Amino acid sequence: QERLKGFGKDADFNPLRVHVVGAGVMGGDIATECALRGMIVTLQDQSVERIAPAIARAAKRFERKFKGKPREARFALDRVIPDPAGHGVARADVIIEAIVENLEAKRALFVDIELRARPDALLASNTSSLRIADIASALAEPGRLVGIHFFNPVAVMPLVEVVRTPASSDEAFRRAAAFVRKLDKLPLPVKDEPGFLVNAVLGPYMYEALRCVDEGIAPEAIDAALVAYGMPMGPIELVDTVGLDIAVAAGKALAGAAAVLPKALADKVAAGHLGKKSGQGFYTWQ
Ligand code: NAD
Repeated sequence: QERLKGFGKDADFNPLRVHVVGAGVMGGDIATECALRGMIVTLQDQSVERIAPAIARAAKRFERKFKGKPREARFALDRVIPDPAGHGVARADVIIEAIVENLEAKRALFVDIELRARPDALLASNTSSLRIADIASALAEPGRLVGIHFFNPVAVMPLVEVVRTPASSDEAFRRAAAFVRKLDKLPLPVKDEPGFLVNAVLGPYMYEALRCVDEGIAPEAIDAALVAYGMPMGPIELVDTVGLDIAVAAGKALAGAAAVLPKALADKVAAGHLGKKSGQGFYTWQ
């Protein structure tokens, strides 16, 4: 407990420029939280069109946060810079990757980033289910990469896992924790194991709930029971929030590729129903 309280407080690290790659559910919201705290963020994705929804979400968050202070909201929004070509990599103090959950894609991205980033820039992946070591081994200097694993929704979840591999440098690890503190979140040091810590516990919980759906229990009934028990949201709504595709990837990472997916989950994903982000999952979202 004492060690946790101090984690990230000792490092002298004041990042000003952050580059985020992947402007989806996570990357967009990570960029927003950084800009909210005065950092200048370049936000990269495959096209300007893919970055636009993240900018729109950021505008809403700033409007709410700076209610009655439109200038402040405007300044915050000006600090989120759409950057489809990734120019921001060369100047950033921190580079966070939040692209598709695919090992080869992430490895290729970091090879390119390492060539263009400043030698002292902190490199981090937001992966939920891949091993940081498997991404880092693509780098000339694997010690530079750590995991900075945010939870969804980024704006409300207080915990962030900071993942080190056996190769990660102490400096990268400490700076990552200091960066998390700058975002007013609690950094939790974790090992590079499947699911890290939180998802290793939450994954089986969500999968058991999905198996109950397979057995014919209504999602609403399962969620109502767990909410009555005291959980802030039910496990099926949690699956919708996380994204059904992400839940599949996480399940495979935890139980192995041969894992048998709950039928209800497999059917939804096959139909393109990915949860909140697609408007339809186990529930309908507007
Ligand atoms: P998402 O599908 O919403 O967004 C991914 C974005 O990356 C897309 O906009 C896509 O266009 C872009 N992209 C893909 N390849 C790219 C490339 N080579 N260069 C630039 N952009 C690229 O996904 P997400 O839910 O935001 O997840 C992103 C990462 O965060 C994954 O690694 C996931 O495991 C992790 N994560 C997700 C959650 C969650 O609840 N969704 C929570 C924690 C961590």
